[in-house]
Amino acid sequence: MLFKDVLVEESLKRQLINLVKENRISHAQLFLGPPGSHKFALAVAYAQYLCCENRGDDDSCGVCPSCVQFSKLSHPDFHLIFPNCVTKKVKKDPDYKQFTSEFIDFILQQDYQIDLNDWNALLGGENKQTFINARDCSNIIAQNSIRSYSGGYKIYLLWMVEKLYPSAAPKLLKTLEEPENKTLFILIAENSDNILPTILSRTQLVKIPVLNKDTIQSQLAKKYNISEEMAADIAEIADGNYINAQKIYQDNGELKEMLRQFHFFMDSSIANINNDLEKVKFIELLDLFNTIISQEREGQKSFIRYMIRMFRNILLLNTNNSALIKATTDEKKVIQLCSPYIRLQNISSIMEACNQAIYHIERNGNSSLIFTDLYLKITDYLKTKK
Ligand SMILES: [Zn+2]
Repeated sequence: MLFKDVLVEESLKRQLINLVKENRISHAQLFLGPPGSHKFALAVAYAQYLCCENRGDDDSCGVCPSCVQFSKLSHPDFHLIFPNCVTKKVKKDPDYKQFTSEFIDFILQQDYQIDLNDWNALLGGENKQTFINARDCSNIIAQNSIRSYSGGYKIYLLWMVEKLYPSAAPKLLKTLEEPENKTLFILIAENSDNILPTILSRTQLVKIPVLNKDTIQSQLAKKYNISEEMAADIAEIADGNYINAQKIYQDNGELKEMLRQFHFFMDSSIANINNDLEKVKFIELLDLFNTIISQEREGQKSFIRYMIRMFRNILLLNTNNSALIKATTDEKKVIQLCSPYIRLQNISSIMEACNQAIYHIERNGNSSLIFTDLYLKITDYLKTKK
């Protein structure tokens, strides 16, 4: 990973490059950044720069043997430590070493934009917690006394240090505090509140800010070769999280379909309160519910969550907070159309009806009744618009 391909501000890269140039390298650093920021890539770029045999002023050379090994994440002095758990393959006593090749494949496939939930799902450990456990810490300590292969730095990158098992941490503290010569620890985390204070106090903080909309937009346009307009739309609703943005792009067809369904739902509901019976299209509405219900429960719930997001945006429009609206260009048109009907006076009842519907779906209620009931309730609340 080269610095030039990392999606963070230039000043942050420069700060790390200067640490190396001025030989002010801290032996334990914490790269802290929100989900969907490029912190993992930044940490690897930093490690690669440290080990590069022909460092430039701004970046690693990309071609020396060390850089080539880094491009495959197979440098012998670069150790990846990450949460793991018992799986079908490893039935007991798991440790990170047993999953290293899967983890490297995962990183490369995800373009260094990795997320713990995705990793857990891949391990097959759904509903299970993954941890950096005591065996992992023992491995690090055992390796720490061995000299590096290249004679240069030995680097340990601990991903999601929030997942360091509390009883395993004390093992690591002494090593973090007094590592062997030329050993570095790079810790990566998303939420400092969940990191043990004893770990936090032993590291130098490198704070990675949330990605801005423009960066997400240009990256999406470049990677997927999509129009600037579409990239802007996705960046708008991705909440500064590039992993989110990619998922939205991949599910874009679904997003459009949910907008169409929402629009139909609201048109029918509004026609209903205006007594415009021809436009209520009740039979078509029931067909639409059947389409939604034919999905798994998760799909049904995501449609209702989509409604909640749209209602929230409509309220923002009506309370002069348009700058806070997160919506695509097409969504904004529908938000505008529905805006006369959503007010502070009825929004909480509408939200509650949506949340109730999600609750009933989770409790295996009759989905057909749940959606019809939700429609009738929302229609009723829309009447109390003034
Ligand atoms: Zn190099």
